[in-house]
Amino acid sequence: MRIVLLGAPGSGKGTQSKLLIEKYKIPQISTGDLLRAAVAAGTELGKKAKAAMDAGQLVSDDVVLGMIQERLGKPDARAGFILDGFPRNIPQAQALDAMLARMAQPLQLALLVDVDTEVLMKRLTGRRTCSNASCGAIYNIYFSPPRSPGKCDKCGSALSHRSDDNENTVRSRLKVYDEQTAPLVSYYKAQGKLRTVRGTGSVSEIFKNVTDIIEVQMRPLAAAMSAASAAAAKVGGTASKAAKAAAKKTAAAAKPAAKPAAKPAAKKPAPAKKAAAKKKPAAKPKKATKPKKAAKKAAPKKAKKSVRKTAPKAKKKK
Ligand SMILES: [Zn+2]
Repeated sequence: MRIVLLGAPGSGKGTQSKLLIEKYKIPQISTGDLLRAAVAAGTELGKKAKAAMDAGQLVSDDVVLGMIQERLGKPDARAGFILDGFPRNIPQAQALDAMLARMAQPLQLALLVDVDTEVLMKRLTGRRTCSNASCGAIYNIYFSPPRSPGKCDKCGSALSHRSDDNENTVRSRLKVYDEQTAPLVSYYKAQGKLRTVRGTGSVSEIFKNVTDIIEVQMRPLAAAMSAASAAAAKVGGTASKAAKAAAKKTAAAAKPAAKPAAKPAAKKPAPAKKAAAKKKPAAKPKKATKPKKAAKKAAPKKAKKSVRKTAPKAKKKK
């Protein structure tokens, strides 16, 4: 699955991302890490990035996208990826979409971990860290306070409050985040790819909601098919009813996610009903999948080559 993660500092999206990596065996792609790695390795893009940074400039979107593209070409990203920290604005989101389209790997989900600003404020400003570097225990004066104020439970050292965790700094950080993210939320909503999960409650509760969203988003068809074949295997006569119900259910679940881009996908379960009920589910999407499969096979190779060749040229012209 190909996911963009959106969430404010303190939303806990990093924690959720780690859990997703474990569960689905897909890498998290963070542009900060990519930049550091490319600069350290001295790749062509790394050199460009370094030149920009040395000149005190921002690394251009082209360079960042090139790094993302290279990263997505690695074997561990074959089953998908989680993008964190990119895109940060609409032009980046558009450029990312264009690149992923050329690779025939469009985004499937933009997942927003949503937490009220006041809760974020408490999470971020309430943070206290044990000043003993070898301990490093972390507390929150609102949610997980130490037994005695200002003292580490584990080693008794004083707790320190990072200066960038003060109220004004945090508030302006959150404001910047809101300003950046609101347009992206609208952008992915218009594509029918945005899903929101409440980022409050226990980590495992949130993760359960995250995976529920992913399952619904990624596997509506698979679910319909297995439900239909299970029903068909049970009883011949009632199978069609059960299959229809299953297909309907998943179709309905997929709908909100499938607005403009995925309209045909939302319609698919309809023909699936009949075919799946009659026979094996494999026979069902014949019409729909044939051209798709061909496109998938043909697209990535061609796209990769042409992208690599043309992208840097286009850049130079600018
Ligand atoms: Zn300590």
